Amino acid sequence: MKGRVFNGMRPTGHLHLGNYLGSVVNMVTLQENYECFFCIVDWHALTTGYEDTAELQDNILNIAIDWLSAGIDPKKSVIFVQSSVKEGAELHLLLSMPTPLSWVERIPTYKEQLRQLEGRNIATYGFLGYPVLMAADILAYKAGVIPVGEDQLPHIEITREIVRRFNFLFKSEVFPEPVAKLTRFALLPGIDGRKMSKSYGNEIHMSDNPATIRTKVAQMVTDPQRIRKTDPGRPEVCVPYQFYRAFVPEQQEHVAEECRNASIGCVACKQRLADIIIDRMAPLYEKRQKLAQRPDDVMDILHDGAGRARMVAKATLADVRRVMNLRDF
Ligand code: SF4
Repeated sequence: MKGRVFNGMRPTGHLHLGNYLGSVVNMVTLQENYECFFCIVDWHALTTGYEDTAELQDNILNIAIDWLSAGIDPKKSVIFVQSSVKEGAELHLLLSMPTPLSWVERIPTYKEQLRQLEGRNIATYGFLGYPVLMAADILAYKAGVIPVGEDQLPHIEITREIVRRFNFLFKSEVFPEPVAKLTRFALLPGIDGRKMSKSYGNEIHMSDNPATIRTKVAQMVTDPQRIRKTDPGRPEVCVPYQFYRAFVPEQQEHVAEECRNASIGCVACKQRLADIIIDRMAPLYEKRQKLAQRPDDVMDILHDGAGRARMVAKATLADVRRVMNLRDF
């Protein structure tokens, strides 16, 4: 039997190229060898963005289109929206009972996000509990393999601790302990050299058309000390070079060499990079255009995925209620 993967992504806007290379490409590969549950985690989006939900449904549709256009296949994977499976909320509630407060408070991203999102009121009950919600997402589907970046490892660790505590307290083997599958990928910077992020407006989106990609690549920050074309450049401090490394790693040494010996100018170097990115993203862009004209078909895929996910979560919750001595009246 294939191992089961769970991967969740927040619908906070269009996915960018960092999301694409760092996560979506990996998801497309995983579905060949695992039974994958790919979830658009809208409740998680509320933990930090509960005050303004005006764009939530558009964001859900857009992320689904981004996934499908990249090759995530509803025949191979279960693609669904978190809030359409209410059993997830019940499991979150039940798991929150035996979870010590200190476990959630010590998650590094909790304190970091409180600091980073200062000004937004997220010192809330819901935000504190998001690691337990994440555990519930994984455990409702009894997923064994969780693809994560390094910064997400503490979330898998707390999920494993919750599993051990739950199984011990209720003398059961209801939940398997999930393991993290680390996806190592160099983070792509934004076009201004800072972290690629919606809040900085420095992203290149998966959905950007070729002309927009060209404009954004032209705006990328290069080596500030390279003033004339004849000045030798330093690829290691240059944003386009990071993109070369990510998109065409086999060419990185050649590009670095050209830069250091000043045999190419930055304008030409960026034009060539834009061609590479546009070429790679063109099939996705075309597919996206077609999907965007048929939002009802995308909704049907999410509806079908929710049905398949619900069946699994219902069976899990039946086990959980049984061992916790809960029943319906
Ligand atoms: S030549 Fe290319 S790699 Fe070198 S600084 Fe210019 S854009 Fe960057």
